[in-house]
Amino acid sequence: MFSLKGKKALVTGASRGIGKGIALAFARQGAMVAVNYRANEAMAQEVVEEIKKMGGSAMAVKADVSQKQEVDMMVSKVASEFGGIDILANNAGIVAYRPFAQMEEADWDQVLDTNLKGQFFCIKAVAPYMEKQGKGRIINLSSIASGGVGVGFLNLAHYCASKGGVVALTEELALELTPKGINVNAIAPGAIDTDMSKAVASNPEVLKGLLARVPKGRLGKPEDIAAMAVFLASDEADYCTGAVFYVDGGWLAS
Ligand code: NAP
Repeated sequence: MFSLKGKKALVTGASRGIGKGIALAFARQGAMVAVNYRANEAMAQEVVEEIKKMGGSAMAVKADVSQKQEVDMMVSKVASEFGGIDILANNAGIVAYRPFAQMEEADWDQVLDTNLKGQFFCIKAVAPYMEKQGKGRIINLSSIASGGVGVGFLNLAHYCASKGGVVALTEELALELTPKGINVNAIAPGAIDTDMSKAVASNPEVLKGLLARVPKGRLGKPEDIAAMAVFLASDEADYCTGAVFYVDGGWLAS
């Protein structure tokens, strides 16, 4: 079960953190993986080397997902190198703590352009390839702080709005793309141990308060999210589409 043998995957923001975890897990299941990065070429190249060491195929590909032209070039490069694209993990994202009173239009735009518009650009670019094949998998990274479940993250109005937009985008696109053979789902992680959560997790008092809300009693690991991504990318998840999968160590239940 859960084999991705021969599948061609593009993972955005895969130079580190959750994206790296997803890229490695996809490769371990047999997929060819395009490792997207924005700035950290050396780290992306390390992920590629790690995949090659385990006998897999991978390429690093630079693109800022908030720039349509760069996304279009990335997707056409990956599709021509791999001979198509079966799986898109829309993972690239940023966070920038700012109280709402000090939040400027530029702050809002930067976060929305990366976290939401970036996913739109990537889906726009890959969907035609998937439609032509009559199958595909799109996995969008949201967050538990995306509305509807009673979790907001302080000083992150733009981030929470972007992640709520990802949920809405996922549900709507499932209606349009599922009949064409493309399943669209979202993963909503809780607190995962990456660079993104460092600001919070490096403060012992804050971390203690956070973990008090997590029945598992620990931060999540990129591998915890990657396991869900592998499932959603696999043939076994054929009947899953338009859904949000919360992977949060029990946070929402507490
Ligand atoms: P991270 O450790 O900060 O890594 C972010 C990744 O995104 C890096 O590979 C970075 O590339 C890339 N990236 C950022 N902006 C980009 C852009 N404009 N174009 C292309 N790539 C870009 O973050 P993470 O914790 O792994 O988060 C991954 C996803 O999970 C995000 O969507 C995040 O919102 C979501 N998430 C995370 C948590 C958490 O607790 N960590 C919780 C819920 C949801 P470079 O290295 O080149 O800069």
